[in-house]
Amino acid sequence: MTEPRPASKKASCASCDAVCCRLTVVLQPEDRVPSHLTTQLPSGLHVMKHDEDGWCVAINSTRMNCGIYESRPAICRRFVMNGPYCKAVRSDYFEERAAAAQQA
Ligand code: SF4
Ligand code: SF4
Repeated sequence: MTEPRPASKKASCASCDAVCCRLTVVLQPEDRVPSHLTTQLPSGLHVMKHDEDGWCVAINSTRMNCGIYESRPAICRRFVMNGPYCKAVRSDYFEERAAAAQQA
């Protein structure tokens, strides 16, 4: 797994742990994702499943990139590298990792 860069630096998918793929991805009617990769929340929302480590089950865990890139959901297509949400999710992730490292 690639070590993430500090949150203060410019984000690049090439050197990121695909942190955005830990977010809840709500599927849209136009999405065409294999059903075994999806689930329904108690609220009724149809979402991508997550694995036990918190990543979307469609992740290629060797390369830490999307394993269904050509058919990834619309919300994933709209996620902008180094945009505000990218920066925010990376910042949260680094804080969580730092806190976990202190407790170890
Ligand atoms: S969009 Fe941002 S959070 Fe997602 S993989 Fe790229 S750099 Fe990481
Ligand atoms: S579908 Fe692909 S891009 Fe979207 S969260 Fe899952 S692994 Fe990431």
